[in-house]
Amino acid sequence: MDFALNDEQRGIQELAREVAEAEIVPHAAAWDREHRFPVELYARLGELGLMGVCVPEELGGAGADFLSYVLVLEELSRADAGVGVTVAVHTSAATLPIVAFGSGEQRGRLVPPLARGELLGAFALTEPESGSDAGSLRTTATRDGDGWVIDGTKQWITNASHAGLFVLFARTDPTTTGARGVSAFLLDREHVEVVREEEKLGLNSSSTADIRLGGVYVPADRMLHAERKGFTVAMATLDGGRIGIAAQAVGIAQAAYDTARAYALERRQFGSRIADFQAIQFTLAEMSTSIDAARLLTYRAAWRKQAGLPHTTEGAKAKLFASRVAVDVARDAIQVLGGYGYTKEFPVERYYRDAKVTEIYEGTSEIQRIVIARGILQQHERTLPVVGAV
Ligand SMILES: Cc1cc2nc3c(=O)[nH]c(=O)nc-3n(C[C@H](O)[C@H](O)[C@H](O)COP(=O)(O)OP(=O)(O)OC[C@H]3O[C@@H](n4cnc5c(N)ncnc54)[C@H](O)[C@@H]3O)c2cc1C
Repeated sequence: MDFALNDEQRGIQELAREVAEAEIVPHAAAWDREHRFPVELYARLGELGLMGVCVPEELGGAGADFLSYVLVLEELSRADAGVGVTVAVHTSAATLPIVAFGSGEQRGRLVPPLARGELLGAFALTEPESGSDAGSLRTTATRDGDGWVIDGTKQWITNASHAGLFVLFARTDPTTTGARGVSAFLLDREHVEVVREEEKLGLNSSSTADIRLGGVYVPADRMLHAERKGFTVAMATLDGGRIGIAAQAVGIAQAAYDTARAYALERRQFGSRIADFQAIQFTLAEMSTSIDAARLLTYRAAWRKQAGLPHTTEGAKAKLFASRVAVDVARDAIQVLGGYGYTKEFPVERYYRDAKVTEIYEGTSEIQRIVIARGILQQHERTLPVVGAV
């Protein structure tokens, strides 16, 4: 086994870290306080190739591997998790499904502007009555001549207020109630009405909005992949997307740990640095160990995806574990900082608020456990093939 990053991966990690430290960290507290979506930042990240890191070069991307993309998300989220989710949804939930399932025309027209950051992508699956049970979605696409008429409402759509491209899921077969009657569509900004911007606990520099599709007509070439294959697109997208959210969680945890460690080495009580108290040392030791474990699970899942190996279970394990670590480490960081940790003078309260959602979106922790249980029980039944691929 080789745990070292290669030169390209290290270079991309350094680039992301430099831009995060210079252009995100100094503003993150203000963006959080003002609930400001830093629209200018995404043009800059686009110039640097960070809006399409793992998109093939011939489609306008940087042509790096999936682990490089995970490293970018980790660094951006370490600076500002709102920026992390914006880039994560744009890349793995909106751009990569077009790379994987798009027709030649769809890939050629849409992927280059997405990969260059000229167009921001969104992924619209969730509805008011359909969250974890995504197969129960009610948005309909009804045949109209050569095209489709789409009606419905989507809820909590990341990037919706700024996106120019929506990967949107609708029921094309009204005779089926479950996942089998769902198809995926590629919609433009003008097809979609943004009806409400959500107020959230954290991730205040990201946009989360509800959208309405009021009988919009789209031609047949707006369908992504094939009719009634929307769930294939959605599930493959979420398999990769979860690895990105795990990376976001690792980034948040790392930021919280870094702040706690630095503070413990500075703060003095009872005539000593608090880092000299064993209780604080043990807390830092637990934090550091959990972050290492979360990072290794995340990198393993990314490596498996890049290698074309099954990664559904591994991605779910990474997200389940890393999101818990993010919440635990951010909470413990507040404890290490004491009263200062509870104030806005330090960023750890923001990390705590931002961390929580990693246990919820792209599948809640309960859903990750279901995915993992299904994987390990099937694996057990089939005994060797999947295990043998590890
Ligand atoms: C900030 C934010 C951004 C988001 N961005 C997007 C986006 O860009 N695109 C998009 O499509 N969606 C997005 N979502 C939606 C997100 O994916 C859903 O919130 C998530 O999938 C959970 O669905 P739900 O909130 O409806 O919860 P529910 O499904 O109603 O679940 C409620 C509770 O019940 C539990 N539960 C549900 N089913 C089971 C079960 N079978 N067994 C055990 N427990 C169960 C859940 O784990 C949870 O604890 C976003 C959400 C947030 C908060």
